[in-house]
Amino acid sequence: MEGVLAGGCQCGAVRYAFNGPIPPAYACHCGECKKQSASAFSMSIPLTYDALTVTGTPNVFETTAFSGNRKYNYFWGDCGTRLWHSRTNPPTAITLKVGTLDHSVDIAPVGHLWVSKKQAGIMLDPDTDQHQTQPDDVLVWRNNLGQ
Ligand SMILES: [Zn+2]
Ligand SMILES: [Zn+2]
Repeated sequence: MEGVLAGGCQCGAVRYAFNGPIPPAYACHCGECKKQSASAFSMSIPLTYDALTVTGTPNVFETTAFSGNRKYNYFWGDCGTRLWHSRTNPPTAITLKVGTLDHSVDIAPVGHLWVSKKQAGIMLDPDTDQHQTQPDDVLVWRNNLGQ
């Protein structure tokens, strides 16, 4: 998939654009991702923050990932939309939340984390890479997705 891709938060105060191709997407079904998405799972694509052209300045708060690493969560405060995560603040390597793209309907996750916590009734494509929890090194795993 090539071309300029755009997205933003629900109210439009934060907008972003970047040039494709879109890296492979993955889903996470853990409890933290249910909270952050306010839904059954999160869907993310790994990107370099520098690849984005961003208007608006998201809020950020800090949590600890399962790995023990610091995780910075970027969101817009008024509408509450989560936009991306990074291990650094300011962001460098990010995971962009797929649902914030203006056109995300064709993006299928090729991998799934924390399938052991999956919401009842959600069916997964058996050809995807599925983990009951998560690989020891999630960074390596997601960088190898779709290869
Ligand atoms: Zn907003
Ligand atoms: Zn998760």
